[in-house]
Amino acid sequence: MLNTQQIIQEADRCVACGLCLPHCPTYHKTGSEADSPRGRIQLMSAVAREIVPANDRYKQHIDLCLSCRSCEAACPNGVRYGALIDTARAGVAKKPHVIDKITNHLVANPSQMRVASKVLRFTQNTGLMRLAGQLVPSLNKPIALLSNLQKTQTWREFYPAHSTNSSVTKKGKVSLFLGCISSAFDAETVRASVFVLNRLGFDVHIPLAQSCCGGLARQQGDAEQAKKTIAKNQAAFNSTLPVMTLASGCGAGLHDYTNLVVKDISHFLVNCDWSNINIAPLARDIVVHDPCTLRNVQKSHTSVYDLLNKIPQIKVNALSGNNQCCGGAGAYMLNQPEMADSLLNDKVSSLKKQKATLLATSNIGCALYIAAGLRAQNMAIEVVHPVTIIAKQLGYTDSLDCGSLHSNSLT
Ligand code: SF4
Ligand code: SF4
Repeated sequence: MLNTQQIIQEADRCVACGLCLPHCPTYHKTGSEADSPRGRIQLMSAVAREIVPANDRYKQHIDLCLSCRSCEAACPNGVRYGALIDTARAGVAKKPHVIDKITNHLVANPSQMRVASKVLRFTQNTGLMRLAGQLVPSLNKPIALLSNLQKTQTWREFYPAHSTNSSVTKKGKVSLFLGCISSAFDAETVRASVFVLNRLGFDVHIPLAQSCCGGLARQQGDAEQAKKTIAKNQAAFNSTLPVMTLASGCGAGLHDYTNLVVKDISHFLVNCDWSNINIAPLARDIVVHDPCTLRNVQKSHTSVYDLLNKIPQIKVNALSGNNQCCGGAGAYMLNQPEMADSLLNDKVSSLKKQKATLLATSNIGCALYIAAGLRAQNMAIEVVHPVTIIAKQLGYTDSLDCGSLHSNSLT
């Protein structure tokens, strides 16, 4: 977070060239300068200098920003827009709503998040969730995101390199960041990641004292809560080991706010030694969605294509319009439904045009949101993490306890 003087200094580095404007989804949609990066920077500067008040209109323009940071990636002057917007959000944060408080508490406490996930699964399986949506229509949007909840999993602290195959030669060790949402709602991606890392010769350490990356709290302007979760992670992880992140949203938060060696898992894997690794062919077209955090913050999006292209016979294509956010953006999909849905519709249209049947994306938030958009349109497109695809071609069978490689590849 920046102090007032730092906000002014950072904003002064913006020369108002406007080169970021064509990259901004909200400016593209509204056409308003106040919804552009340049306009928002000027507003933040004016508020810091006490020239304009931080009133509701100012807050609206700050809230409508997706924090996608396309502008930051495009800026020739290297203006740190991410730091500016995080600080601006903290400055206009309202007292958290009870739902925000519960969410923040759960994401900061993984064991309680797992319990909540079990309860949600129970309500889903028994029809109570649908009933809740009928009684309280405002719950329908979050409910739509949580279709087909997976069984929760308790993680061990250590998965040795040879756990998937006794003939694996150990090449090193890594830590794994679970991510509060991935761990609770997409355990398969976590299992698949451990499988691939083990298969390539890496011991995987999962520090159980780890916490959320702080992304949701930062988005709500709760700087204190974000700081607490970051401090927990800083203490939980061994700073000498590379920390694998599976969701690029988490990767971006840890990259910006810790001094840990944070690596997006696809980027790490693509640079590993793949000699003597047998990858089953997959004769399918795969469309790849680039999450903003992977593209604009971790800047590792090309690794996903390189990783998937290791699979014989695969055809990997970029989703058209990949430089634009899907509208998910953490809690944005719930708090700014109009803009979020408009951006989601663009993705769904692109997928329709490209006749996609399988979509790979490295961020759980994007995956949940796009999958919900596809279900709403009755479009049968699988949405999976790229590492899950490669894991299946390596013989992953959705269980970490399998002692041998079985053929369970995608067909
Ligand atoms: S590209 Fe950078 S310097 Fe130019 S207007 Fe945007 S933020 Fe300012
Ligand atoms: S972060 Fe994204 S939405 Fe916000 S100003 Fe930059 S480009 Fe626009």
